Amino acid sequence: MSLSVAHGATPPLGKVWFVGAGPGDPELITVKGRTLIERAGAILFAGSLVSEAATRWAPESCVVLDSKDMTLEQMSAWLIEQAARCATVVRLQTGDPGLYGALIELVQPLDAAGIAIEVVPGVSSAMASAAAAVESLTLPEVTQTVIFTRVEGRTPMPAGESLAALAAHHSTLCIFLSITLMGRVTAALLEAGWSPDAPVVVVHKASWPGEQKIVRGTVATIHALCREAKIVSQSMIIASPTLGARHWQTLAKSKLYDASFTHRFRRASSVSEGDALAFSTYTPIDTLSDTSPDTSPDTQETA
Ligand code: SAH
Repeated sequence: MSLSVAHGATPPLGKVWFVGAGPGDPELITVKGRTLIERAGAILFAGSLVSEAATRWAPESCVVLDSKDMTLEQMSAWLIEQAARCATVVRLQTGDPGLYGALIELVQPLDAAGIAIEVVPGVSSAMASAAAAVESLTLPEVTQTVIFTRVEGRTPMPAGESLAALAAHHSTLCIFLSITLMGRVTAALLEAGWSPDAPVVVVHKASWPGEQKIVRGTVATIHALCREAKIVSQSMIIASPTLGARHWQTLAKSKLYDASFTHRFRRASSVSEGDALAFSTYTPIDTLSDTSPDTSPDTQETA
């Protein structure tokens, strides 16, 4: 969208929006992201996974460019150039822009050029992969922690962040950018004391229409299974003690929905018999201090 300005006047600089396009399914972009694309004068998109969203919602007059062969300098120069020309410039990135997306490297030159920026979050591939596999990344009394990480490839890992060190927590691991390094992933899990029988799920092109593949295996088998399935790119590796819980016979339930748990919107009633039988280690009634006064229980204690 170009601005109408008086002859000879310099148009005000446009704004650059860093928009999370979601994991692949063009419908998994946020409403806000889509609205910005619909009014964008220029879009710089990152790779084939988001091209569909860009081309589906952008107006015909919009300049759309794939950044896959560009350097960071070329990208920032292009964004600055477009911001001088149009009010709304969109940098469209896969998943959420704040995860492995070179966000700050692109924001800094725009800051230096005095261009306003804003970030619109997106559905990360970690979330889309868990959804595709119908897995919960947290479960009461199993793990309440999720680690987003990768194994060391050409990008070195900071001290203390080797996969073996992180895996020692035995919490959920969502491992990005590592499908070609699966041997290192499984070696690290074993080194951290995970059983060779521990479940691992790999989701290839999560949510991408017609192309999604889900491979389930164990620490011992997942590497060969992925090779067999010819999965060599765009995949999320999830290792977690929660995997497969859909089929478990006994499950500790989230306190939020338990009859004995008082929170801001509901008073506790008595513990139901079924719950009492199923969960011998279940801790009764957490105190209200667990639920901060300005937070809805949905964001506080869902599991
Ligand atoms: N910002 C993105 C991550 C970019 S890094 C996000 O939030 O998802 C690229 C890595 O993300 C890939 O190597 C892969 O591990 C993962 N990834 C991206 N899209 C994916 C998808 N649709 N399915 C599975 N993994 C995906």
